[in-house]
Amino acid sequence: MRHSPSRHAVHALASLALTFSASGAPAQERTEAKPPVRDATKTNETRAERSEDVPAETSLRWLKNGNTRFVKKNFRKDGRGAADRDRSLAGEKPHAIVLSCSDSRVPPEVVFDQALGEIFVIRVAGEALDSSVIASIEYAVERLGTKLIVVMGHTRCDAVKAAVTAKTDAATDGSGFDKLVADIRPRLKTVLKGEPSRFLEVESAVNADGVARELVQRSDVIRRKVESGGVSIKTALYRLETGKVSFY
Ligand SMILES: [Zn+2]
Repeated sequence: MRHSPSRHAVHALASLALTFSASGAPAQERTEAKPPVRDATKTNETRAERSEDVPAETSLRWLKNGNTRFVKKNFRKDGRGAADRDRSLAGEKPHAIVLSCSDSRVPPEVVFDQALGEIFVIRVAGEALDSSVIASIEYAVERLGTKLIVVMGHTRCDAVKAAVTAKTDAATDGSGFDKLVADIRPRLKTVLKGEPSRFLEVESAVNADGVARELVQRSDVIRRKVESGGVSIKTALYRLETGKVSFY
């Protein structure tokens, strides 16, 4: 599950192209294996008292299972009570890091049906990168031993829309949002020609993929971990229309 920056963007686009068939039905959802009846995230092993590192493959499976529960409205009932809060006082051991948009419709703990202490979340409009975002991810990788980083974009993202419709790559008026657009827009270079995709799904996936690649480029800590196989990075797209998260 090593991240391969050079092939990642192409793979994301190819996956997106495969996701929709001529009938308009998401092909990936039709062919996806049914989730196991008994889900590992329903056991104690994901609770706050867990102390061992969780392999990235396991973490990814838990997120996929959690998203399936979210889509099916079959939510877990554990992990949110007073006893769980008490357990969490000893420290945290999140199994995944999720960098997602701040959009109020895309809370990772909800769309992945994860409980207290289970995922380490950084949210910023358009998943824009700055030194604080990178430092937060480095903290979880180095100090908490988290093995999986997910960069998750979403359809109908207003930050991505602003970047798509901007007239220039550079910040023009010096406002905070303008700087955000200036961060996002260069990642969309390959998809800015022609009409925007439906619900901006291609642009949002390409942006998230670019963020994942930049994380590796801009952080020595993350790059070393990815190159040694100690950490995996996955790009994901949340679809507001269905509640489904697709990983690329
Ligand atoms: Zn957004």
